[in-house]
Amino acid sequence: MIDVPKQLFIGGTWVDAVDGATMPVDDPATGEVVCHVADGGTKDAQLAVEAAVRVQDEWAATAPRARSEILRRAYDIIVARTDELALLMTTEMGKPLAEARGEVAYAAEFFRWFSEEAVRVEGGFGTLPDGRNRMLLMRRPVGPCLLVTPWNFPLAMGTRKIGPAIAAGCTMVLKPAPQTPLSSLALAEILREAGLPDGVLNVVTTSKPGEVVEPLLRGGRIRKLSFTGSTQVGKLLLEQSAEQVVRTSMELGGNAPFIVFADADLDKAVDGAMVAKMRNMGEACTAANRFFVHRDVAEEFGARLAARMSALRVGPGTEPGVDVGPLIDESGRRKVERLVEDAVQRGACVLAGGETPTGPGSFYPPTVLSRVSPDSDLMGTEIFGPVAAILTFDDEDEVVRRANDTEWGLVGYVFTESLDRALRVSERLEAGMVGLNTGLVSNPAAPFGGVKQSGLGREGGRVGIDEFLDYKYVAVPVS
Ligand code: NAP
Repeated sequence: MIDVPKQLFIGGTWVDAVDGATMPVDDPATGEVVCHVADGGTKDAQLAVEAAVRVQDEWAATAPRARSEILRRAYDIIVARTDELALLMTTEMGKPLAEARGEVAYAAEFFRWFSEEAVRVEGGFGTLPDGRNRMLLMRRPVGPCLLVTPWNFPLAMGTRKIGPAIAAGCTMVLKPAPQTPLSSLALAEILREAGLPDGVLNVVTTSKPGEVVEPLLRGGRIRKLSFTGSTQVGKLLLEQSAEQVVRTSMELGGNAPFIVFADADLDKAVDGAMVAKMRNMGEACTAANRFFVHRDVAEEFGARLAARMSALRVGPGTEPGVDVGPLIDESGRRKVERLVEDAVQRGACVLAGGETPTGPGSFYPPTVLSRVSPDSDLMGTEIFGPVAAILTFDDEDEVVRRANDTEWGLVGYVFTESLDRALRVSERLEAGMVGLNTGLVSNPAAPFGGVKQSGLGREGGRVGIDEFLDYKYVAVPVS
């Protein structure tokens, strides 16, 4: 495994927490401690914000081309170190190496994309309708940002925020999830190597998120919060952001419907289901959570999906040929076990998996449940594990109503060979994104995000940088 710094990154320097505290990082495949990293507290976070505030004006004044080239160099370094970064990620998070390599490529793309966007920030100029005034529109960075990221995509959730913040000219403090700090620390070192000036990015790893984050949001110096994580924590941070009217972007949880109509190409639908369900062992906000399959094809779809899921190899992500790694930790596994037990008690049939293996590591087998009762707990909970829950439906209106019957609205998947139906259902789904005959929507060039309680704002795409920019309108009378 590559040797990454294990300290806090503040003002361009690697430092211990002021009280010297450290926290362990575990390998979820073995449950063993891999290393310790600094465990920052309130004082460290204040120092990080001070560093970010100190260089904000200078950084905002840096030429867009210079900011762009830093991102481009960082992209090149990440790509060159794909194997090392993938191994680091697999060790702290569990996903199989092939998937970790995929995430490294996905993460790097955000830097390449935003290196291209950094030099295309446009304002505007025009005459107002009254003819007596002109309007000058400027774009300005929002200011120092706080970035809070989850453990499931340790590198990509960082680059998806850091990329546009750098491109827009914002400084930042990053607080990664405590389960997966190493990928973020490696990223900070890569950006330093790529020439990022001291203080622009500061990283505070901590096991005390509330203690570290709340004073920053209430302190009046952070101007923007970009958060990816659960809806529950997102709501809390929105409340805390209200006091100082901190601008927020929220990428929260999901409860994705995966709809298979009777006219669907079942090969495509099963392929799509494997991706939408099994990417990241099901530990993705975009994971298909509720499979609605038309009654006429439900049995065949279930049988084919169960065969594909049963053929997957479960094991430590570092072993060759492994398709499914461990879940992030024991509590993640217990949650999945409980949801499956509840569904079975309410009448679900187990078509594949469903038995927790013995031995070390938080493994759970790929599982397919059919005849799931709509009142099962997993219908209203992010499963965050490799469990496909199949329900049946009879007509389009009914399935759209049931798919939308959730407080979340991140993504939906629709499988049909009818163009009319595909477009109609895509329009009617209450979701920020739709996968049409595909199980994968994520792409750095597309706006990622949800509606309802899945979040506010978009990451990636042409609009991703807007989240880190303000408009300034200057009124200029025509003399
Ligand atoms: P989480 O528990 O909400 O944690 C996310 C981040 O918030 C972590 O860094 C966490 O640190 C921190 N946090 C927790 N409590 C906090 C508090 N009181 N104040 C400040 N920060 C706090 O979510 P998770 O379990 O890591 O990630 C899974 C969730 O993320 C799922 O709901 C998933 O759908 C969502 N997600 C959404 C997207 C998207 O783009 N929409 C992408 C990926 C994941 P601690 O771990 O120390 O609590």
